Amino acid sequence: MNLIIVSNREPYRAERVRGTYKLEKTIGGLVSAFEPLLREKGGKWICWGRKRKGQPDQLKVNEKFSIHYVPLTSADVSEYYYGFSNETLWPLCHMFLTRTHFNDSYWKGYRRVNRKFAKVVVENWESGSKVLVNDYHLALVPQLLREHGVTDPIYFFWHIPFPPYFMMRFLPSRREILEGILGADVIGFHTQHYVDNFLSCVREILGAMYDDNIVFWNGRKIEVRAVPIGLDSELWKSLSVNTRVIRYASNLRKRLNVEFVGVGVDRLDYTKGLEEKFRGIGRFFEKYPSFRGKVSFIQIAAPTRTKLEDYVDIKRRTDEIVGMIEGRFGEPGWVPIYYYYKNYPDERLASLYRMADFALVTPLIDGLNLVSKEYVATQVDGDGVLILSEFAGASIQLRDGAIIVNPFDEEEIAEAVYMALKMKRRERRERMMQMREVVLTEDINWWIREFMK
Ligand code: UDP
Repeated sequence: MNLIIVSNREPYRAERVRGTYKLEKTIGGLVSAFEPLLREKGGKWICWGRKRKGQPDQLKVNEKFSIHYVPLTSADVSEYYYGFSNETLWPLCHMFLTRTHFNDSYWKGYRRVNRKFAKVVVENWESGSKVLVNDYHLALVPQLLREHGVTDPIYFFWHIPFPPYFMMRFLPSRREILEGILGADVIGFHTQHYVDNFLSCVREILGAMYDDNIVFWNGRKIEVRAVPIGLDSELWKSLSVNTRVIRYASNLRKRLNVEFVGVGVDRLDYTKGLEEKFRGIGRFFEKYPSFRGKVSFIQIAAPTRTKLEDYVDIKRRTDEIVGMIEGRFGEPGWVPIYYYYKNYPDERLASLYRMADFALVTPLIDGLNLVSKEYVATQVDGDGVLILSEFAGASIQLRDGAIIVNPFDEEEIAEAVYMALKMKRRERRERMMQMREVVLTEDINWWIREFMK
């Protein structure tokens, strides 16, 4: 089987070093999920590459796996990527109507670039290939492929929340987006909530009929599935027993010199709720002063979409609130929040997860959230507490083991931290065991079996 993965994001950043290309894995849920699969099983990855001058249109990762770049102009990038994808669809789907920009040139750029992607897929497609188109950047591609005669099953997975009809109806191009997606044979979302939202949108906006999770459209039957994406569990299990990872974790733990450590890892995005999380931590130190000097929290905030105004704004606000908490609660010799605005590789994240007593994962809304699963996968000793937002898609799978919180409620976050620190070892282990069972069983291989069956 020839698998063709189509995504906006490239799986690697390519840097020319002494005549060859050094490939560095890029960050993000999609890449974490698919890169190991293609490396092992082979296939093609079609993506927008931030190509360096002179770089070829294709790069081989190994004998079986190649990357094919879709060349984009700077107008394409600003209208399709920064514009329609990240200033229109992203905020709309995450229910931030006031951050949503409606702009006709963004939409035209989006259509143009979706056509460019479809063209490269068609050039690389041969009968028997399975095509998996990913995410909100490329919603028009399934229908364009169908128009170009791609006949084998086309899969489409939408990795972010799918908005309810009352949000989707604001989008001027709502019909085209839905028709584009319905070009696929199988459509996937992380949760049944998103499936239900999608179904009600196709009914209300297109007048399409559906029964159960099957949509009847243009004489075709399209299956809509709720299958939450999983981790490369083998990778995370092996990282957590790697000697470098363990050594770094134990040295860091000694240097921190506190009784308890919490961890958070997020892209610095307004949907991730960092400001609210820090307010919750501040409230915790206010309510429970006996924990001052005993608990430190490490937060990785990976830079993302730094050209957009909203992201500059959220960075400024996050910096400010961290500063306020340091100033108010910190003491010489004790730091309440260690905050790093950087990208870290898997190995370093594994050390942070391993050494932390609890993880605080509190997005305001999140399609799934892989970080919560990574934290669970790395707790090989079966200990550790996960505090998780009820609005992360992963909370459906992890609700029996995690402490579930409303991320808008700083009081609840403060109480959850207190509960995590007070929880008896037995309860911690029972909850962690439940979550590990789900995360390690419903991993990326399970996802591929379930979604692409
Ligand atoms: N990540 C990383 N380095 C960082 C921060 C995050 O490699 O410095 C990875 C993290 O391990 C996870 C992914 O980025 O696999 C984030 O996925 P998630 O689903 O949590 O959120 P997204 O960024 O896709 O919204």
